[in-house]
Amino acid sequence: MSVPDGKRWFLPKESLDALIAVLHQQQYVVIGPVFHDRAIRLEQVQRADQLARGVRDEHSGGQYRLIDGNQELLFEYVVGPDSAKKFFFPPRQELFSLHVKGEQFVIDKVGPAAPKLAILGLRPCDLAAIAVQDRVFGYHQPAGDEAPWASGFRCESELYYTQAREQSLLIAVNCVRPGGTCFCASWGNGPQVNKDMPYDLAMTEMRKGFVIRSKSRKGAAIISSLSLRDADDAEVELEGLLLQRAAEHMGRQLQTDDLPQLLDRAIDSPHWDNVAKRCLSCGNCTMVCPTCFCSTVSDSDDLATGSTTRTREWESCYTHQFSYTTSGPVRSSIRARYRHWLRHKLDTWHDQFGVSGCVGCGRCITWCPVGIDLTAEVESIRRYDSRDENHAPPRITVEARP
Ligand code: SF4
Ligand code: SF4
Repeated sequence: MSVPDGKRWFLPKESLDALIAVLHQQQYVVIGPVFHDRAIRLEQVQRADQLARGVRDEHSGGQYRLIDGNQELLFEYVVGPDSAKKFFFPPRQELFSLHVKGEQFVIDKVGPAAPKLAILGLRPCDLAAIAVQDRVFGYHQPAGDEAPWASGFRCESELYYTQAREQSLLIAVNCVRPGGTCFCASWGNGPQVNKDMPYDLAMTEMRKGFVIRSKSRKGAAIISSLSLRDADDAEVELEGLLLQRAAEHMGRQLQTDDLPQLLDRAIDSPHWDNVAKRCLSCGNCTMVCPTCFCSTVSDSDDLATGSTTRTREWESCYTHQFSYTTSGPVRSSIRARYRHWLRHKLDTWHDQFGVSGCVGCGRCITWCPVGIDLTAEVESIRRYDSRDENHAPPRITVEARP
């Protein structure tokens, strides 16, 4: 495996506070991984000593636990239940309030402006997920740093997402110890960043510090303000070895080259009944997934003021009401809902957005209360498929987004 190209510097551990201070000087709200509620969560930090130092995580189907790690390491864990999604697409968001005056709607209040965030500690799979959500919410990354971040098509209803992304600064930390449910390498989304991912700075952690590179002008400006030395040959070589080892130790694997065709053929697979006996339809997998984007809106009236507030909240395709129409729910069984979710992620997402809806982070496996494992379910479907000689007719595709 090749180490990402480009100039590399060395950021000593004791300079992490200087990095955070530079971000504060530039008016960023700094977000980083902290130990909170027996999990690694992404929260606001003021100093490096608030980061989750010396903690490792263990992941398997339906299981997550933190154990003591190396006190010299700040990023020894893989991922927690949070991802950048909650900052760009908040779980609950008041969109606006209005009242009726005569025959007109009068806006009383619009939702808050997006904060200017610097998110530290994102994993390469998280960056891949941000790139997926950029497509979902109509936010186009520029080809280079010259263009403004918001160039290209905008979905006007997603101004919050656009604003949050435009002013964000993304600092990735490559994975040198993948978790038991990770399969980002199967998608080419890890364990290290690649040039197609949206990031400003990317770091690889070592005992004494970080090998760090920039991708954007914003990232380069931060590096130059820190007066860092170049990474030496030994540090660059060690980075390559660490990333190579990580790529060889993924917890899970998934054959990804034929998934849309496989899942189209599997529309009536007996395996859907099998998984429906285990799935609780709880929706955990959709809540922790960094690419899932379903939401619902509700209106609440304030009788004292006559103002109505519209609120958007995350919703899950696993809930009974999600597909409810006047004639009842379109997907009334768990079999239908699991099938819809898996096919959307791995198959029809390609038709809608031109990419997979899965980046291989493994969160849906870890946080499924009954340990349903996307990679294992696909392999079961594949086994049924290889037994079936009467494949379904060829798939009907819709035109992919440009
Ligand atoms: S489907 Fe599962 S593994 Fe894939 S991106 Fe979502 S949470 Fe991660
Ligand atoms: S697959 Fe697991 S997490 Fe997802 S809805 Fe079913 S039981 Fe819940």
